[in-house]
Amino acid sequence: MGTGLPNNPVLVVHGGAWAIPDDMVEAHLNGVRNAVAAGWRALTRGGSALDAVEEAVVIMEDDETFDAGRGSFLNRDGKVQLDALIMDGATLQAGGLGCVERLRNPVRAARKILRESHHVYFVGEGAERFAAEQGIPLCKNEDLIIPREVERLKEYQSHLEEHRADLFAPTDSHDTVGAVALDAEGNIAAATSTGGTLNKAPGRLGDSSLIGCGCYADNRTAAASTTGWGEPIMKLVLAKWAADRVASGNVPEWAAAEAIDYLKTRVNGHGGMILLDARGRFGISHSTPRMAWGVKTSQTEEAGIQRP
Ligand code: ASP
Repeated sequence: MGTGLPNNPVLVVHGGAWAIPDDMVEAHLNGVRNAVAAGWRALTRGGSALDAVEEAVVIMEDDETFDAGRGSFLNRDGKVQLDALIMDGATLQAGGLGCVERLRNPVRAARKILRESHHVYFVGEGAERFAAEQGIPLCKNEDLIIPREVERLKEYQSHLEEHRADLFAPTDSHDTVGAVALDAEGNIAAATSTGGTLNKAPGRLGDSSLIGCGCYADNRTAAASTTGWGEPIMKLVLAKWAADRVASGNVPEWAAAEAIDYLKTRVNGHGGMILLDARGRFGISHSTPRMAWGVKTSQTEEAGIQRP
């Protein structure tokens, strides 16, 4: 539980860390601004940090600009496979799912897992069955596929050898979405949702939906959401790594930057992170040329495509 004292809410979102091309900047900025607006609405209507991160992520899952929900990257078989996690910093309850193919908003199902199940993580068909039992409608996988991504996969697969040489280069798109929030009760939460990496092997899970890797929240440390090349992020359990540095007295701004630096120096990874503690202090960091981000507090509202 929080301190019981009224807090000033804070919301931070990201829409993926990579070399976002100039002609896609506006769409990314719009997307993160819309996500901030939805999350903030939840907070100002008395919603919890969990409500805020869920609503913010739903907006970005619904926005085809991002690699989450409809419009996600396709896997090697030409299918969309989605992963998501949501976590409550007050109770450490979490809901995660991986490799789902028939959910428009995996984060909604993740929230149901958090609230309604004594399990923490579901995959594939079992995850979809659980969601359906909870009243979440299932869609067809084709409903999640858009022509842009069919073309992208075709292009990628026809130049596989070139891509293999530069696999996971920061220029490759990483449009995962995430949000962290602090509510008026002093509780923090985090959520991350993704379609994973382009041309991934069916069944591959990245960092995004794994507790402590792509997403983490604990009132006593911090809430974090990451984006970027998932395999190196997983190896470092990076979200928890950063949150622990906040617990040992470092400011989130420093801890986020340090985590992204560690990702580079330890495993030659690249990516980005948003990090927020229960005092409302936050950090936004990325080692890719760009990362879409948005922030709102009771005093400020900002969005950007690059963090100095
Ligand atoms: N981290 C995600 C993954 O590896 C990709 C991304 O951030 O876009 O699945």
